[in-house]
Amino acid sequence: MSAILIDGKKVAADCKKLIAEEVSQFSGRKPGLAVIIVGNNPASRVYVNGKRKDCAECGIESYEYALPEDTTQEELIELVHRLNEDENVDGILAQLPLPDHLDADDVIYNIVPDKDVDAFHPISVGRITLGKYGFVPCTPYGVMELLNAYNIQVYGKHCVVVGRSNIVGKPMSMLLLHSNATVTIAHSKTTDLAAITKQADILVCAAGKRGLITADMVKEGAVVIDVSINRNDEGKLCGDVVFDEVREKASYITPVPGGVGPMTRVMLLQNTITAYYNHINK
Ligand code: NAP
Repeated sequence: MSAILIDGKKVAADCKKLIAEEVSQFSGRKPGLAVIIVGNNPASRVYVNGKRKDCAECGIESYEYALPEDTTQEELIELVHRLNEDENVDGILAQLPLPDHLDADDVIYNIVPDKDVDAFHPISVGRITLGKYGFVPCTPYGVMELLNAYNIQVYGKHCVVVGRSNIVGKPMSMLLLHSNATVTIAHSKTTDLAAITKQADILVCAAGKRGLITADMVKEGAVVIDVSINRNDEGKLCGDVVFDEVREKASYITPVPGGVGPMTRVMLLQNTITAYYNHINK
């Protein structure tokens, strides 16, 4: 039996519609998102353009700061401090990666936590670990919303997360844990990955390695969420999961593209709305 396809595009479009409706009812100042981009990384440019378009579609003001490649750390931090003080800006995001001469951690640490819509600041990370969420990192947040949209219960399930990065694997594991799953985290030093993944009721793959997860590594009826974005030999986007074979064994599966990616974008808007409410209720 073929798995039910989790349609991230549709769920994201529905979420976006709700956000746009909510924003249309705000009187006075609209929520504002400041996005900083440094240099000419083409992928970053695509992401930033996407963010601007998403904001426009939902009535959120977006303020773009496109800085030249040779921007200094001091200039960048000065901009962050200015945006920290700006009453019209609810959320601040620095598009990563930054050019090599710049220190991304320093930039993130200088964003005031109540505008940290990417949820990368140590205070946000601490809150996530404590289960006291302010902002939730967009990709894991998007995964939780997808599970919710398809009424997939997490409570009591064994969830295996492949990947332990600060932006995906670790926060993903925390969100699942706080939803009362039993969580196992696998990574590149895990000795027998298949033995671990085969135990998963819900398998979240975020290794960034195409072809990593084959059908023999998946339990019959498992829910398979593929976060990764890789390219195959033809240059097409693909995840970690060998989709055609795993879909025959899973109960639910996300495609790449069209699964987690669109949700990540929408969750940034959701975090911006959260920041807006925090500011107007201060
Ligand atoms: P990352 O920082 O490179 O982390 C990858 C993680 O996978 C690491 O923890 C690594 O282990 C682990 N890993 C690598 N090879 C492995 C293997 N063979 N077996 C088991 N674990 C392995 O990447 P990331 O930033 O977390 O992103 C992961 C993927 O998600 C990438 O493809 C990225 O493009 C994608 N992504 C998608 C979205 C979206 O919106 N859909 C958002 C963000 C990222 P070690 O820690 O031991 O090195």
